[in-house]
Amino acid sequence: MQTLPQPTENGYYGKFGGAFIPELLRANVEELRRNYLAILNDQSFCREFDELLRDYVGRPTPLYEARRLSALLGFRVFLKREDLCHTGAHKINNAVGQILLAKRLGKTRIIAETGAGQHGVATATVCALAGLECVVYMGATDIERQAPNVGRMKLLGAKVVPVHSGSATLKDATNEAIRDWIAHAADTHYIIGSVVGPHPYPDLVARLQSVISREIRTQLKAQTGQALPDAVVACVGGGSNAAGAFYHFLDEPTVKLFAVEAAGEGIHTSRSAATTVLGSPGVIHGSYTLLMQDEYGQITEPHSISAGLDYPGIGPLHAALSANGRATFLAATDEEALQAASLLMHTEGIIPALETAHALAALHRLPLPAQATVVLNLSGRGDKDLSTYLTHLAQ
Ligand SMILES: *Cc1c(COP(=O)(O)O)cnc(C)c1O
Repeated sequence: MQTLPQPTENGYYGKFGGAFIPELLRANVEELRRNYLAILNDQSFCREFDELLRDYVGRPTPLYEARRLSALLGFRVFLKREDLCHTGAHKINNAVGQILLAKRLGKTRIIAETGAGQHGVATATVCALAGLECVVYMGATDIERQAPNVGRMKLLGAKVVPVHSGSATLKDATNEAIRDWIAHAADTHYIIGSVVGPHPYPDLVARLQSVISREIRTQLKAQTGQALPDAVVACVGGGSNAAGAFYHFLDEPTVKLFAVEAAGEGIHTSRSAATTVLGSPGVIHGSYTLLMQDEYGQITEPHSISAGLDYPGIGPLHAALSANGRATFLAATDEEALQAASLLMHTEGIIPALETAHALAALHRLPLPAQATVVLNLSGRGDKDLSTYLTHLAQ
């Protein structure tokens, strides 16, 4: 077996991954597969990517020692501040990388799908930056629920296309984006927003997000003298922020990895998104991985209070990390996430994204010795979740 996180040539992490796609999509995906590694390793790409990460995204993001939170928990907690990135979350790292890739492939038009709108906003942002046309597919239901992000995308010059088919949510938007890609293969690149989809997307997105763990290693050493943390913790929707935070620690066996899924209203309430507990192997979005499905293989509608974790699958790298035990998967409920967010607000003066709040909620349950050094990936800021917080937390 290959050493993680590198997939095999055909995109397999253990038994998970691959590219299960309609024949009509084969040429598009194959073009990407043939070219992505050469482009990512090209010097001029690296220079341009690093420069944009520094001057546009605002990297390196700080590694902040949360002292008041640490005192309460009994271990040393460092927060990797992806919430301070331009547009408010880690998603921009991937979007910047893929827009540079698209230009090198000679593409002039970008499509994306979005659920909560966070990936749509990141994509609209980099399209404006690069001067490329941007079309974002979004379920009609989500458009109603996520009005501020729809507004942002429009202000940035993107065309937001409402999708009315099916349940009018993320999976229907994905189908529409794929249809568009088939019809416009020659000039269009499809920016996927997490470590999901057919090979090479999971590997492409993981590599672009791996800047997170690269920085953590350097910063931890400089700030503490320690080469490695005892544990890294991140929330998992599709798995891109966790993949980025784990990447350069995967072959360091002393570093424990904790991935936190959304338990929603409770794992066994049928209102949950805890894929590693409730899911089974199958194909979703072109990849063989773990997903929530019924006995007929139909995808089960997930639930989480955080729109970014409300996804019925996880990427194939995480399915493999769960299967081989390299990462420990935990789950936090909506209520636990809200309480953890509130604790961070009051102890550190930081309002986290609701997604990140799930990772925070798992902190006090980690099986770690006192005084262990823990890095938590603070994947995003809570501005977008203000109304949810005000409903549940304001007295
Ligand atoms: C989208 C999002 C997530 C979930 O996506 P991953 O691919 O699992 O990282 C987590 N946190 C924030 C802030 C997000 O916007």
